[in-house]
Amino acid sequence: MPTALDRREMLQFLGVGGVAAALARLAWLGTATASADGPTVAGLSPAELGWDPKHSKYVLPPLPYPTSALEPAIDRHTVRIHHDLHHAAYVKGLNAAIAGLEKVRDGRLPASATASLERDLAFNGSGHFLHVVYWRGMTPVTDNAPRQPPNPLLDAIDRDFGSLDALGTQFAAAANSVEGSGWAILALEPVSGRLMVVQAERHQDLDVAGVRPLLACDVWEHAYYLSYQNRRADYVKAWMGLVDWNFAASRM
Ligand code: MN
Repeated sequence: MPTALDRREMLQFLGVGGVAAALARLAWLGTATASADGPTVAGLSPAELGWDPKHSKYVLPPLPYPTSALEPAIDRHTVRIHHDLHHAAYVKGLNAAIAGLEKVRDGRLPASATASLERDLAFNGSGHFLHVVYWRGMTPVTDNAPRQPPNPLLDAIDRDFGSLDALGTQFAAAANSVEGSGWAILALEPVSGRLMVVQAERHQDLDVAGVRPLLACDVWEHAYYLSYQNRRADYVKAWMGLVDWNFAASRM
């Protein structure tokens, strides 16, 4: 249990974090609002994904809030390492895989490098895109985001899962039972309009091609180990309390 001072400090950080997060979010939304008309990957716009058309590569998008904004559910050290090192590595790996395949095409690398580069492309590309959904799918606890989905998302959840509680139970079961590293994803299959929970291993395995992730919960140990060690279920429960339902609903 934190001491009284710890609690006071934590509340101060949360207060500061809340204001900073709101400002950061406004700045971010000003440059990275999804376009209904432009190209998207998984429903995310080029700006949201950090696409740099001038250099024809991806750059790591900034966090939409300060690293401390998700405390106490997710500590600032975890958020910093996760974003600045892990997510950054996927962006770098995606660019490297694309560059490597270009080298195969023009003969600077042997064709035998293709399989490895294709695996890198799938792993890092899926890793990058899912992490953008992960960061944007959470909102600081001090924000006034609804802790319940707005319609039409709530109606769709009731229709496809029975209730929000039933979705939560299925989602937690999927997240908690990912073998090794992976994700639980609330996804929309756009043609049927059906919502589904998808359980991904690593970033790219067990995925359902073409569905749009509305929310993604990262259950790699790097997402929670500093605070939760092996208690993944506690982390998943805390993550559910951070969900930005407005973001999820905006992606319907
Ligand atoms: Mn991760």
